[in-house]
Amino acid sequence: MNTYRTRSIIVLTLTAAMGITAPGCSSPDSTGSTAGPGAGKEKLRVSCTTDIVKDLVQQIGGKHLAITAIMDGPAIDPHLYTPSPQDINILTDSDVVIYSGLHLEAQFEDALESLRHRGIPTIKVTDVLEKEFSDQLLQANGVVDPHVWFDLELWGQCGIWLAEQLAEFDAAHASDYRAAAVEFQQLMKTTRENGETALSGIPEERRILITAHDAFQYFARTFNFRVEAIQGLSTESEPGLKRINELSDVLVEMKISAIFTEQSVSDRNILALISECESHGHELTVGGILYSDTAGPAGTAEETLAGAVMHNIREIAKGLGAQPSGQETP
Ligand SMILES: [Zn+2]
Repeated sequence: MNTYRTRSIIVLTLTAAMGITAPGCSSPDSTGSTAGPGAGKEKLRVSCTTDIVKDLVQQIGGKHLAITAIMDGPAIDPHLYTPSPQDINILTDSDVVIYSGLHLEAQFEDALESLRHRGIPTIKVTDVLEKEFSDQLLQANGVVDPHVWFDLELWGQCGIWLAEQLAEFDAAHASDYRAAAVEFQQLMKTTRENGETALSGIPEERRILITAHDAFQYFARTFNFRVEAIQGLSTESEPGLKRINELSDVLVEMKISAIFTEQSVSDRNILALISECESHGHELTVGGILYSDTAGPAGTAEETLAGAVMHNIREIAKGLGAQPSGQETP
């Protein structure tokens, strides 16, 4: 395996990159104090692609890292977003760039390749899943599904692995990264348990989740749903009328009365499906707005993945008519 060699090169590159950092490049506000006991030890400047990756990095290394996300906000679609020249500058000015992978950030692939050519280290958080958990990765039409954060256990494994990568870059804080990753794994487990409780009131026959694009396969596997989407794994291709008609038939047949829109995807196709159902005399409503490929706005509980997942679960429980379980989760 050449993994060790690759990592060694990355660490060397990073060390070199940090060594040549100009003193004025980082403000004390974003990188922590540059005076006192920590003088000269600036935080690693980490750029993330999506805000879900940013949350993961924040949870594992927030204390020691200066973190930015390029696609930071609930309305941004990572399948379609193309990095601007300013984004490229931010990435180029980073000590390390962390991304989700599995073709999620489809328009970033050239930029990431170019960063690697320039000696800027990149970390793909789903690397560990391809190497060690590939049998748990879902596919559709021969393409691996990138929305793995909705398998909370797998995302916890990404955290454990990320802690090891950060420990190689920043050995002084290795034990903090590792401890935070174990805590994060526990948070993912608790979120899953709370989610199962909140969804337990949805009867079996109503456990069908219809969304704009196919981001919820892992969610469906975790929480025992059937999932159907108008668009495929990516929002890059448009669905045909045939797909709208197929889903309309499913909804009418199963008497499902709620479908869900997504924060980062246009609701155009969802509205077309509602109108198709109406033409068959079947009333269909929007059951709620879900976070699929992004977390929520900064300063809200949904800015973390755990918060966004619980938001989704509350919307789904409400939209699909969960019976009160008496165990409402905040
Ligand atoms: Zn997606």
